[in-house]
Amino acid sequence: MPKLIYADNAATKRIYPDVFQAMSTVLLEDFGNPSAIYDFGGRARNIIESARVAISGAIGANVGEVYFTSGGTEADNWAIKGTAAACLQRGKKHIISTAFEHHAVLESLKTLQHQGFDVTYIDIGANGIILPERFREAVRADTGFATIMFANNEIGTIQPIAEIGEICRELGIIFHTDAVQVIGEIGIDLRSLPVDLLSISGHKIGAAKGVGAIYIRDGVEIAKFMDGGSQEKGYRAGTENTAAIAGLGVAVEEAGKRKNDKEFIKELRDKFFDGVLQMGGRIHGDKKNRLAGNANIAFDGLEGEFIVLFLNNYGICCSTGSACNAGAVEASHVIKALGFDSKKAKEAVRFTFSEENTIEEIDYILDKLKEIRNSCYARYGNDGDYSVD
Ligand code: PLP
Repeated sequence: MPKLIYADNAATKRIYPDVFQAMSTVLLEDFGNPSAIYDFGGRARNIIESARVAISGAIGANVGEVYFTSGGTEADNWAIKGTAAACLQRGKKHIISTAFEHHAVLESLKTLQHQGFDVTYIDIGANGIILPERFREAVRADTGFATIMFANNEIGTIQPIAEIGEICRELGIIFHTDAVQVIGEIGIDLRSLPVDLLSISGHKIGAAKGVGAIYIRDGVEIAKFMDGGSQEKGYRAGTENTAAIAGLGVAVEEAGKRKNDKEFIKELRDKFFDGVLQMGGRIHGDKKNRLAGNANIAFDGLEGEFIVLFLNNYGICCSTGSACNAGAVEASHVIKALGFDSKKAKEAVRFTFSEENTIEEIDYILDKLKEIRNSCYARYGNDGDYSVD
């Protein structure tokens, strides 16, 4: 087995050692039920509340505006379905979003469409960045809610969330943003950022899988998500995952301290971009206005899945944006939203670098990419019309 080169950090990340430490202390020692009224339960309750303080502090929220969830998917589902239910009470059945959201958002919207909501998916443009004017043009008298992701998980492009939020404020529209890929990457201060709901996931920022949080601005009307006990003020019932929540609090603080790593990660990414462009490859999404570690690239005529499997033989982990459905690979909806047809969209390969990657690893990946590109072009040409045997 070759050495592992992990370049899929947007899919998930290794947890930080301090997160592991905090989680193992809870699992082995402070394992009481946080709802129990004896002191041992109180210790667990305090751990949860400390994590809430850490997270709210990191994003400029009030402590009571942060609720724990099982991850980003749940936060998105709750934000969208919970707010839609409240909008309906006010006769607002129109929602604005984009076609390049995460499936947690798109599938939630699809459910609402089946229930009679009307959704407008605004154009993201060829560089993967929304124009606030397009957003304004989509607003109708019955628009109650908008959900636009902060940064895209496949191409990393960063959206003008403050500008869109201002429009929402002006027009009385509730505004949700999926910030799953952004926490620890871009500073967020909800005291000045006009956002009403925001989704967070643990495993993208060095905490565990299966934990996340949602920010719900005080005063925003939202239906509760889970029936049961009175946890999370009765909005999200179920015994809290104390260990994972403790780890999430530590990870958010740790991510905040690692801001300097971003310059190094950008350096890795830009070196990678230069190498890809020299080989005649293309870059998906704006080259500069994107998350530090994201490089979504393609070579004409080479299927992304083939590249990912080839690199896997060398211990290199990266991903396609494509989803596998019933054994068939589907073209990425994000790359299609940039204006590419299905065939071109299937060429996309995503590398997401972290502070654990090195310059030598970038050279090695480029070397292997060159090998596969040269041998395929020598054999088939680069007209994009071949299938791999
Ligand atoms: N939103 C975005 C932008 C994501 O990248 C992901 C995970 O890939 C999610 C939501 C879902 O988060 P989770 O895996 O915590 O459910």
